Amino acid sequence: MKPTERMEKIVSLCKRRGFIFQSSEIYGGINGFWDYGPLGAELKRNVKELWWKSMTKMREDVVGLDASIIMHPAIWKASGHCDTFADPMVDCLLTKKRLRADQIEPQSGVAYFWSGAKDEVSGKEVCEPFSALLAPGKPAESARKVATQFYSQRGLQNVVLLGERTEKVENSTKYNPENGALLTEPRMFNLMFKSHAGPVESEENAVYLRPETAQAIFVQFKNVLETSRQKVPFGIAQIGKAFRNEINPRNYTFRSREFEQMELEFFIKPDEVVEKQCGSVASLPESGAPTDPPQANWGWEVWHGYWVEQRMRWYESIGLTRDTLEQYWQKKEELAHYARATVDILYKFPFGTQELEGIAARGNFDLTQHQTHSGKSMEYFDQEATAKYIPHVIEPSAGVDRLLLALICNAYAEEEVVDEKGKAEVRTVMRFHPRVAPIKVGIFPLLKNKPVLVEKALAVRDLLRPFMNVFYDDAGAIGRRYRRQDEAGTPFGVTIDFDTIGENGPEMEGTVTLRHRDSMQQERVKISDLLSILLPQVQ
Ligand code: ATP
Repeated sequence: MKPTERMEKIVSLCKRRGFIFQSSEIYGGINGFWDYGPLGAELKRNVKELWWKSMTKMREDVVGLDASIIMHPAIWKASGHCDTFADPMVDCLLTKKRLRADQIEPQSGVAYFWSGAKDEVSGKEVCEPFSALLAPGKPAESARKVATQFYSQRGLQNVVLLGERTEKVENSTKYNPENGALLTEPRMFNLMFKSHAGPVESEENAVYLRPETAQAIFVQFKNVLETSRQKVPFGIAQIGKAFRNEINPRNYTFRSREFEQMELEFFIKPDEVVEKQCGSVASLPESGAPTDPPQANWGWEVWHGYWVEQRMRWYESIGLTRDTLEQYWQKKEELAHYARATVDILYKFPFGTQELEGIAARGNFDLTQHQTHSGKSMEYFDQEATAKYIPHVIEPSAGVDRLLLALICNAYAEEEVVDEKGKAEVRTVMRFHPRVAPIKVGIFPLLKNKPVLVEKALAVRDLLRPFMNVFYDDAGAIGRRYRRQDEAGTPFGVTIDFDTIGENGPEMEGTVTLRHRDSMQQERVKISDLLSILLPQVQ
């Protein structure tokens, strides 16, 4: 299957089964905004809960925060977002389509230039120059057609192009890849959504919807430190909405204007302090990053490596195997001026290998900025090291929506199977890891018009549902019901049949068939064992 076809099928399944809807669909949608339907909402909750559990509940050294979306605007000045959180934007001179300059694929070919054009009949002239790129193998006429359209938009009807000349170009990003028309010069565009707090729409009341959740963690660093009784090294985790007025939202939910982030700021001692305290600073072993338990002699490099490895393991624990992921270590020249190292964890999406999470070693840039701008000390007194310092930070920052899309792409599978009547058919199955699957178990009475079966099936549902999300379905042939749950990605199916109620002998009474989504194997298990079989797999 071609990647575009695969992506189309995934998008269609997401709509059909209620994973993802276009926001405001009945009004024609709104670019860059998405809604999660019943299955998507469960999937999202599971992912966030698993992140939260692994980051906070399973660790001694990380605590949580849930901060407001709108914060004091001075925060965005201090963080640098007001001045530098901008992307270069260009417009197509022909279609007016807006593109992000740094995302345009470089193209080679022959550039055609015209000094202007005139109307053959009226004699009217337009002196505005224009240019179009002709891709290799295309006839010159196609470039002239683009130019003719351009000048027609400027009021000429019978266009005669003037002053044509050509030039070979290599790897140019000045032309719209879709039609070859010249683009405007790049202009910087700040991605923060602006609003006003209170009834007056003035600059003094300007506020921003946060473009990342991280800054709230930095500005609450002292409060959290004082109330949680944590000691450096420790972290603060937060999950929440972030907003970016992306120039070109694209690739389904991958680049949205409203999305959710899961961010950890893990505060560590500066290397000098570690050295003073331990005599030396551990270096990153050749064999790979160390794992738990953390050691006192770890400096920023080892902590950074540790968090990259922790995050990789977490992705594995929810079904993204290492061969579906890639690590991209940013080169020195790509790093932000304050960053010491940044690793992006990428997923191989059908539309390309793209970032899910960035893990940055940010020095003490952020806390220092807030200390300077707020005038409040961000220093920490380290009793063990008898030293005062502004902690450094390692930041694993992941996007919930991108991860959901990765999980959906990863789960989607089509396979040929043979139905009960021996007919071959295509089975669409979402192979979600049971931990993230929106529904954990489908519960099916074999027949809906047999009250004893229905009663027993409802009892099984009630037994399981305090512990996991179950779906009761009594409509249609059992094979159809299995297929519906395959498409929803439900890892287990429990069928209550005549054996369950003892009609075929006492030895089978109280047992059900447990169907496994991926292998489609069925086994007979006792109802009383169901919980202990299923719970460890879905938690
Ligand atoms: P990109 O380069 O793709 O714009 P970024 O490097 O600016 O992303 P960060 O600022 O590091 O992203 O944000 C951390 C995480 O937040 C990203 O890894 C991604 O998962 C998520 N994220 C960022 N922007 C968006 C967006 N527009 N839509 C969905 N998720 C996003």
